[in-house]
Amino acid sequence: MKRPDDWTILKLIQWTTTYFKQQGIESARIDAELLLAFALDVQRIDLYLRYDQPLNPNELARFRGLVKRRAAREPVAYITGAKEFWDLTLAVGPAVLIPRPETECLVEAVLDFMKGYTGSGEPLILDLGTGSGAIALALAQSCPTARVAAVERSAEALATADRNRRRCGLADRVHLVSGDWLAPIKAYPALCDVIVSNPPYIPSGDIDGLQPEIVRYEPRAALDGGPAGLDCLDRIIATAPACLRPGGGLFLEIGHDQFPVVQRLAENRGAYREAVCRQDYGGHDRVACLVRC
Ligand code: GLN
Repeated sequence: MKRPDDWTILKLIQWTTTYFKQQGIESARIDAELLLAFALDVQRIDLYLRYDQPLNPNELARFRGLVKRRAAREPVAYITGAKEFWDLTLAVGPAVLIPRPETECLVEAVLDFMKGYTGSGEPLILDLGTGSGAIALALAQSCPTARVAAVERSAEALATADRNRRRCGLADRVHLVSGDWLAPIKAYPALCDVIVSNPPYIPSGDIDGLQPEIVRYEPRAALDGGPAGLDCLDRIIATAPACLRPGGGLFLEIGHDQFPVVQRLAENRGAYREAVCRQDYGGHDRVACLVRC
């Protein structure tokens, strides 16, 4: 057994990377570095400048606790309490889904639409099921002329979104609304220029087959889209037209094989004049873009 002062930063990174790999963790090295940086309260890049520095017993004990949690497959973001999304650092906890890089494609799709949009001078963008607030905050930051509102049913998630809008300096730009999908705004017809959502879209039966990080730790209500994964998508597609201005857009994150059926759901409504799909960075269908007649 090594003496504690033999545990330099480099050796700890190497040992932990091997250990995480044995546990089946794919991003072993990055995770080891992120957790060590968090334990030492430094930036990840700082580790490279201090490879030979040994840890003191307190730091070592703190790091060991974090390694144990990660080995039990708790996501790094829940351990550190933070996740990067767009160019924001967001607080995350077990009440909210950890924002995914794919969801940045949804933000991009909305921004592209806004470039050519001439509907109203101060457009209103509505994010449904905002969770951590990721989408609403990224859009508020990138669209300085837009007003942004974000709806969320879970009180705990709403508190996280509130924390994040303050943290990002966007508290006066993002209005938070407690409620279920479009229910809070259905009294205001044609209010929105854009409705955007990353709703739960995973078929219920598929969830237990996902990575342990997701199954054990992420909120099921943020993932489970019902038997075919389409319950929330269908509901939003059905109710959005009444809330959108003519020519306004509905942008939905979807599963890689869901666009044909989403397109059919939209056609059946007869309220959308256009339905196109965008791919994520992995080349998979990811975002349905629907334009209201
Ligand atoms: N809107 C949040 C996100 O994209 C939460 C989505 C969800 O909980 N399904 O990260």
